[in-house]
Amino acid sequence: NTLATPGATRTTCPYCGVGCGVVATPRPDGTVAIAGDETHPANFGRLCSKGSALAETLVPDRRLLHPQIGGERASWDAALDTVAARFAETIRDHGPDSVALYVSGQILTEDYYVANKLMKGFVGSANIDTNSRLCMASSVAGHKRTFGSDTVPGTYEDLEEADLLVLVGSNLAWCHPVLFQRVQAARARRPQMRLVVIDPRETASAREADLHLPIRADGDTALFLGALAAIEAAGAIDRAYTQAHTEGLDAALEAARPFADLDRLAEATGLDTDKLAAFLDLYAHTDKTVTVYSQGVNQSAGGTDKVSAILNCHLATGRIGKSGTGPFSVTGQPNAMGGREVGGLANQLAAHMDLGNLAHADVVRRFWNAPSVAQTPGLKAVDLFQAVADGRVRALWIMGTNPVDSLPQADGVAEALRRCPFVVVSDVVTDTDTMPFAHVALPSAAWGEKDGTVTNSERRISRQRGYLALPGDARPDWWQIQEIAKRMGFAKGFDFANAAAIFREHAALSAFENEGTRDFDIGALKTLDDAAYEALAPVQWPMPAGAAPTTRFFADGRFFTPSGRAKLLAVAPAEAPALTAERPFVLNTGRIRDQWHTMTRTGRSPRLSAHLAEPFCEIHPADAERLGIAEADLVSLSTDHGGATLRALLTPRVAPGTLFAPMHWTGQFSGAARVNALVPARTDPISGQPASKAAPAALRRV
Ligand code: SF4
Repeated sequence: NTLATPGATRTTCPYCGVGCGVVATPRPDGTVAIAGDETHPANFGRLCSKGSALAETLVPDRRLLHPQIGGERASWDAALDTVAARFAETIRDHGPDSVALYVSGQILTEDYYVANKLMKGFVGSANIDTNSRLCMASSVAGHKRTFGSDTVPGTYEDLEEADLLVLVGSNLAWCHPVLFQRVQAARARRPQMRLVVIDPRETASAREADLHLPIRADGDTALFLGALAAIEAAGAIDRAYTQAHTEGLDAALEAARPFADLDRLAEATGLDTDKLAAFLDLYAHTDKTVTVYSQGVNQSAGGTDKVSAILNCHLATGRIGKSGTGPFSVTGQPNAMGGREVGGLANQLAAHMDLGNLAHADVVRRFWNAPSVAQTPGLKAVDLFQAVADGRVRALWIMGTNPVDSLPQADGVAEALRRCPFVVVSDVVTDTDTMPFAHVALPSAAWGEKDGTVTNSERRISRQRGYLALPGDARPDWWQIQEIAKRMGFAKGFDFANAAAIFREHAALSAFENEGTRDFDIGALKTLDDAAYEALAPVQWPMPAGAAPTTRFFADGRFFTPSGRAKLLAVAPAEAPALTAERPFVLNTGRIRDQWHTMTRTGRSPRLSAHLAEPFCEIHPADAERLGIAEADLVSLSTDHGGATLRALLTPRVAPGTLFAPMHWTGQFSGAARVNALVPARTDPISGQPASKAAPAALRRV
């Protein structure tokens, strides 16, 4: 962290999972200069529009500066005593599963670690879930059942070194812009590299592709079953690899063969046979292939099976664990990966250990000296809010997220919070749509003020460093949780002096009785002193103590299943969304380039808002003509769960019969455009991730 400019601090962007390094330099006039960190291996100095505008989104005017009880300013002692007493009382009267935490891929690994430790080791409930459930839970589930571990095998360099890069359900150009810039630079250097984009919409990424497959919603599993069949037909199965390192190939092939027929595949995917044939030929015959997938895969009622269908193709061909190959899940949030590492999902334990695994529970119990380690999975996000609605969860602490806008059936979430006997909200701003439901509001440290680490999509741990003073009474999230834990009688496990101390314990747990049995091991970092933690340069795990660092997993063909072999799975396509005469459109939701989540920060930047200034709905011109809708008309969109009024944007980027609406706008910007209020709370049965991209919907001119 040594920089030539006085006052300059190396830190990490708080938006997407690319995890770009940022250099922040406060100026004497109180503003901050932001630049890309040229030494950071994720971005080498590049920043996208959102990262460049970080200084404009520091939100000093809307900060939550003091604790509040019942909307009135309170002292920290009063607020903490109230929260601890209500949680303890609820647990006493209704059991440990009557309380819950709902946290965020925005909080730092150290915050996440302390929250998870409190719930799963001391309260004795796994009712802690995170908004990362909406982001990549299907990838986690897919990785676990195939690799035996939640491992992203590759690195960003693999995307640059591939001869064929396939983006599935990922608008990388807008959602992970700096990574896409790296891809484009690699294509300029290596013109033989091919880019295929599989997406129902003609996105900015699709426009740059050599081949765009405008797939029908949820056609991905069928497509990758067809790809596996094509791989077999082309003689591209790596028999030596599959015999040595995998199991389940025969059953996976049997499930795939019906999709060898191009006409059947065309019917299942909505793609024309020429495009299908071109893709299958490339996919079967290109050794150096990377398949990148994101929300179009994960946010689906069949998301885990989509992931498995992709992993099957890479394992069947042995295209994994080698340079320029591999499946690659890109995470939406800055610290979705760090949250996974500490066990921040309701179905994880800690340090990539498993809930329900008695040996793992024993490791965690002894390491934490914990009185009550959770033994069974807790409630996943959608189920958690359902439990709030029906009174099973009676005290809820929401940290760094805005579920009243971001969860599906968002109006139902608001109603659940209204009924909940006790809601705590930790946030940095006062005016989210969730904040009015808080019985106690706790002011959190914001980006630029807090200290800790995040992990990006390629397993790279980077420091977020504070370079601004904490305003008012704002405190880090980990401090808030620790103070509550102490007041609940758990002082012994919660005496961390700073973020560095938490990180050391997290690193030590990752290595505790590990000996290569678990993928997540950063034991080499467990002895970092405070100064070394402060200076920590970006590092990629695994980093076991005493072993040479490796950047890529599975190079030796060894996986973390009991047999040591990767499991190919026989999967089948999920059912298509049920359209009706009343709801004849498929509504796809997603992001735009210059906004982040529910806009609590980016929405305040005029520069960012100038890109796309108001909520809109993309409609195919043929549908618009049929319904008498003209460009820029106001249109009403409705589903079984809610409605929204949006500006009509007529474009052939969407297919006839489909609509696209961004999910960013909220009550503070446009109460009529809370798109997640329309999305049904339909989830993948394995991962619990909501299907946010295929809601049956009605459309009419207002
Ligand atoms: Fe931040 Fe992602 Fe943009 Fe990088 S690509 S500057 S991490 S939003």
